[in-house]
Amino acid sequence: MDDRDPECLFCRIVAGEIPSDRVHEDDDVVAFRDINPQAPTHVLVIPRRHIPDAHALGAADGPILARLFEVTSRLADEAGLANGYRVVTNVGPDAGQTVFHLHFHLLGGRTMGWPPG
Ligand code: 5GP
Ligand code: ZN
Repeated sequence: MDDRDPECLFCRIVAGEIPSDRVHEDDDVVAFRDINPQAPTHVLVIPRRHIPDAHALGAADGPILARLFEVTSRLADEAGLANGYRVVTNVGPDAGQTVFHLHFHLLGGRTMGWPPG
């Protein structure tokens, strides 16, 4: 799989071609605030490498998945979300996925309903 999809919004954000409010970056992972926040804390945690969605993940992607969750946990700590938070990844149109570059929504700072809409 190519590292980058030139048509992909989040690949362009990773490259710095589109500005974002970054809260974390390292060699593998970038995190930035969602442009349309659904909770007091709403951060998107993404791999630098273009992966379309969680459905495309395989066993070889274990290390990047672990890194994504490690960063998510650290950001939740930094945001003071000791009382809990939600991690969401939408897969495909029925789930409401609109950007086809794997991302985990970190949502917190309010109580969450269940089941999700
Ligand atoms: P999805 O709907 O695919 O699960 O999530 C995509 C998310 O990306 C949405 O929550 C949307 O608000 C966010 N988003 C879309 N375009 C931009 C952008 O240009 N910048 C930022 N920071 N977030 C974006
Ligand atoms: Zn991409």
